[in-house]
Parts: sequence; structure tokens; C-alpha cells
Amino acid sequence: MERGLIAVDRWNEESQAYFLTHLHADHTRGLSSDWSRGVLFCSPISAALFPSRFPGFDLSLLQVLEIGRPRSLKLASRSDGQDLSVRVTAIDSCHCPGSVMFLFQGDLGCVLYSGDFRWEPTNEQAWRAKKTLLRVLGGDAVDLLHLDNTFCNPAFDFPPRDVAARQVIDIVNRHPDHEIVIGVDTLGKEDLLVQISQAFNTKVWVWPERLETMHLLGLNGMFTTQTAQTRIRAIPRYSFSAATLVALDSLHPTLGVMPSGLPWSPRPHDYYAAPHRLIHTVHFSAHSCFREIADFVRLLRPAKLAGTVPSSSCYLNPWHFFSHLCQPHSESTSPKHPSKKRKSTVRPRISESRD
Ligand SMILES: [Zn+2]
Repeated sequence: MERGLIAVDRWNEESQAYFLTHLHADHTRGLSSDWSRGVLFCSPISAALFPSRFPGFDLSLLQVLEIGRPRSLKLASRSDGQDLSVRVTAIDSCHCPGSVMFLFQGDLGCVLYSGDFRWEPTNEQAWRAKKTLLRVLGGDAVDLLHLDNTFCNPAFDFPPRDVAARQVIDIVNRHPDHEIVIGVDTLGKEDLLVQISQAFNTKVWVWPERLETMHLLGLNGMFTTQTAQTRIRAIPRYSFSAATLVALDSLHPTLGVMPSGLPWSPRPHDYYAAPHRLIHTVHFSAHSCFREIADFVRLLRPAKLAGTVPSSSCYLNPWHFFSHLCQPHSESTSPKHPSKKRKSTVRPRISESRD
């Protein structure tokens, strides 16, 4: 895509339109409360969370994209000033609250930016998102897919999140006299915490900013900042460490649970990969595993493929694994001003059996 026209999760460059996939810190680097470069498009949930993340942000610069509803944009080519007509649609990426993919169609070709995503084959929300994406595509061939390649390696094979959640509940169940400490980010894994709260009919402790986020997400009554009310705590990932757990364990039997895709990391020095007597790692990931990434590419059969995570520990160009799943196009793959819409010769289908 022509530089300077559309920026997705990039905040340090001039662009005619800016798009935020979700509010995780690695996607908002360079975005601040005094943002003034231009209009920023995001999902309704991200917009609702925005003031708490960026107090004082000029909310008139926020443009909310309803999920699955295309919005037309008028841009101007930087090379020749010609008008460019683009339609953008936000699609649920099922990664964390408010997270979306962006589908761009029109004079820049058909480009899908997946953002961080997890579409498990058994997940109802993901199934609906897939259906929406195919409806909006309407048979258009995807020219370029920007893909979440966080776990783009066959070594990363982990279970769906509902299975991993049951594993966490089982660990808590097997340690009825322990304080349980769970490491989480500032956003994401709410479903896991809700399931734990419901399974044990107890509130889960969270830190004050996290409680505010829970309330903004409409999750009331299951979370508390009162330590005396519960033995289960969700603490920030950055303060989750063996040293913290050892200190807590010296006061009261304590067990840490780290729900993360990272245990599969091949890096031997990664401390999540090295088991500690007080830490249980559960393979609960908000990113797609390799099989799910392959399913996604197979569904769309793009002409071109690019990874969005260049610094991934296991990074290999997704093309290396998925070129055989991509669609060879006889026409140019970057139709700046196409005279007619190209249609996919392989019509993507969605399975009604949700396989
Ligand atoms: Zn993320």
C-alpha cells in the first residue's frame, strides 16, 4: 500500500488516515494524549476505552467504525494527486476487547490487515467474524494479507482458549488452600477471569486501573480491589515473577499461573519456558496457533502475504510456509487504479458445521 495514505498501528509517520487495531501497548507506541496528526479510526469498544488509556485525548479525532459496516474514505494519491476511493470495514479479530482487523477495498486493491487475531475453529465469536469477513469481501480476491505471524511456526500448536481455561480452573481446584496469582496484561483474557470467577463463585482481585477497565467493558460484580474478599488475584504481567511469588509464598502458600502462548517459545533463556516450582504455565493464547493461521490463509488465498511481527522470536516469512496456499494472479497484485474489480477464482466458503 502506498506509504503516507493509510497507517495501521503506526503513529510516527504522516498519513492521510490512521487505524488502530486494538489497545495493546505494542500497537499504540507513538500514540499519546496530545495526538494531533489526524483522524483515527477504531472499533466502538476501543473508543470506549480510549479516554482511560489516553486522558485528555481530543475525542473529536476518533472515528468509530461499526463492526462489519463498510465506510467510504476519500484519499489523494501522493504521487499524482489523483482521487482515490477506498472502503474500509472493521472485522472482529477475537484477540482482546475491541480488537479488529481492517479490510480495505477499492482503488488501492483489496488489502486485509489482520492485526493480532485468534480465530479458533470452535469459537462462536470467531465463526461470526469469519462470516462477516466473507460477506464484506463479496468474492473479491485478497491482493495482500498483512498477517499476525506471532506463532507462525509449526512448533506452535496449542489448544483453544476454552480448553486452556479449563486447565487453569483445574489447577485452582487442586490447590484449595493456596492463594492463586494470575499474570495478565492491561487488556485481554477477561473471558478466562470471568470463567474462574463463575467456577469458584468468587470475585477475582484486580488492580484499580484494571477494575476500571472491567467496568468499562460491562463486567460488573465479578472483580474487586479488596484482597480480603478472594484468594484469586490477577496481577499485571510485568510484576508477575518468581521473586514476587516466593515472597508471597513465604507469607501464605501461593501459586502463580501464567496464561500465555510463550511457553512454546524456543528461546531457552526465556524464564516462562523454565518451570519454577511456584509457576504453572498454561498455554492460553490470544494469538492464533500455526494451524489456525494456516486455516486463515487457506480461507482467503491472498496473492501476497506479509507478516506484521518482524521481531517475533520464531520469525520466518509466512510466505515460506504458506505460498502453496496463496492464489497466483495473472494481473498486477498492486492495482493502484484498477479499471475493474478482480474476483477470486477460488471462492472462499464458510463451513456451516463450523469446523
Ligand atoms: Zn495484542
